[in-house]
Amino acid sequence: MTGTDPAERAGRSVLVSGNWKMNENHFEGLRLVQELAAMLRVTGIPEGREVSIHPPFTSLRTVQTAVETDRVPVALGAQTCHHEQRGAFTGEVSAEMLAKLNVAYVLAGHSERRTFCGETDAVVRAKVDAILSQGMRPIVCVGETLDQRRGGEAEERVRRQVVDALSGRSSETIGGLVVAYEPIWAIGTGETASVDDAQQMCAVIRDEIAKLAGPGAAAAVRIQYGGSVTPESAGPLLAADDVDGLLVGGASLDAERFVAIVRAPA
Ligand code: PEP
Repeated sequence: MTGTDPAERAGRSVLVSGNWKMNENHFEGLRLVQELAAMLRVTGIPEGREVSIHPPFTSLRTVQTAVETDRVPVALGAQTCHHEQRGAFTGEVSAEMLAKLNVAYVLAGHSERRTFCGETDAVVRAKVDAILSQGMRPIVCVGETLDQRRGGEAEERVRRQVVDALSGRSSETIGGLVVAYEPIWAIGTGETASVDDAQQMCAVIRDEIAKLAGPGAAAAVRIQYGGSVTPESAGPLLAADDVDGLLVGGASLDAERFVAIVRAPA
C-alpha cells in the first residue's frame, strides 16, 4: 500500500515539527517563539497543516506560557522522555511531567539519542508506551546509517525498527501515531535524501504498518521525512505521496526559514 489514493491522503494532515535539539536557552526560546508567532500571524499556516515545536526541557514551561498566552497556532513538543513515570532516575523527565505542560508530541528514538545515549529498540518501545499512557502522541524516529544503506540493509533495518516500536498495539493506536523517517546520514549533514528515496522508504514504512495493523491504520498514520530539510527541499518532499510531514532540525532555529518550510507549496 502507498498513500497515493487522493481520498486517503486528504484524511491525513501534514505535520511539520521543529526539533530545537540542545539549542535555545529559555530567553532565546522565548524570542524564537515570539518571532514565529509574529510571522505566523501575518502568513498563517496553510489549511491541512499542523506545526509542533520541540524545545529543550528547560525552555518548555516558558514556551508553553508564550504559546498559550498569545494563542500561537503551534503544538508543544518534547525531544524525549524517560520510560518510567517517576522514581529514582536522576536527571530524567517523565511523560507524566510533560503531559502536565500540555505537551502534545514527544519524539521517541531520535537517532542522536540512539547513538549518543544508547537507546535501544526496546527502550524506544518502552518510551512509546509511556508517551501513549499520558495521552500524548509519539513521533517514532526510524532510519538507517550510511553503512546500512550502502550494504543494502536500509529497508530491513527500518522495517525492524517499526516492528519493534509498534507491534502488538491496536490499529486505532497505530493510526494515531507519527513515524519520522530520518536517514541518519542526512541528519545535520546538509545531505537530503532525494525525493524518490524519501518516498520509497516512507512507502515501506506504510507497508509495514499495513502488515502490523491493517489498511485503516496504514492510511491514517502520518509519516514525516527528516534530514537537512530546507525551504527549498520542503515543497518537493511534501509533494511525495507517502510523506505527510517534515521533522526539521537546524532550519527550525531560524523563524523565517522554518515558516518558509511550514508554508512550502507542495
Ligand atoms: C532532526 O533533528 O531530526 C533533523 C533532521 O535535523 P536536521 O534538519 O538539522 O538534519
